[in-house]
Amino acid sequence: EELRERIGQLVRSVPDFPQPGIVFRDLSGVFADADGLQDMASAIIAEVPSEVELIAGLDARGFIVGATVAARLGVGFVPVRKAGKLPPPTRSQTYDLEYGTATFEVRDNAVKAGQRVLIVDDLLATGGTARAAGSLLRQCGAQLLGYSFLVELTGLAGRESLVDDPDAGGVPVH
Ligand code: IMP
Repeated sequence: EELRERIGQLVRSVPDFPQPGIVFRDLSGVFADADGLQDMASAIIAEVPSEVELIAGLDARGFIVGATVAARLGVGFVPVRKAGKLPPPTRSQTYDLEYGTATFEVRDNAVKAGQRVLIVDDLLATGGTARAAGSLLRQCGAQLLGYSFLVELTGLAGRESLVDDPDAGGVPVH
């Protein structure tokens, strides 16, 4: 509760960004603050399943959150990148956005068969981004342990969309 309070003070809400009517939660103040960065990792680690072997972070702020958590846990990190950034060979997964589609890629062989992977991102909104990453990592042979986010926007049913995803097998959302 104390952690939540301290981190919350470093999150800035920006009205009408990137579009009118949207309130953007800006987490750069958490990353820029020495204690904020440690508090962020502590808050996530408090709920991480102990069997985790690999953290997958989502482009781009999930790299900051995920790599910080991985370094603290002493496990590896794999970036799930937007299309066109990684050299071949890669595996990819296209997913729907509000307008149009996007594609995630990971390095082929980034995950060993059955490796226990936790997906980490800065923020959960509708869940579409995380669901696509989960699907891609499972195609790569990962055993998906769950999803961890620093911020959850409630009311968009993102959590339900991940927990109820029939392909993901009801993994937890932290
Ligand atoms: P979703 O796919 O709707 O769950 O959106 C989550 C993705 O969009 C995450 O990768 C976030 O980084 C990004 N995102 C959506 N809204 C915000 C926000 O208010 N602040 C920061 N990132 C956001």
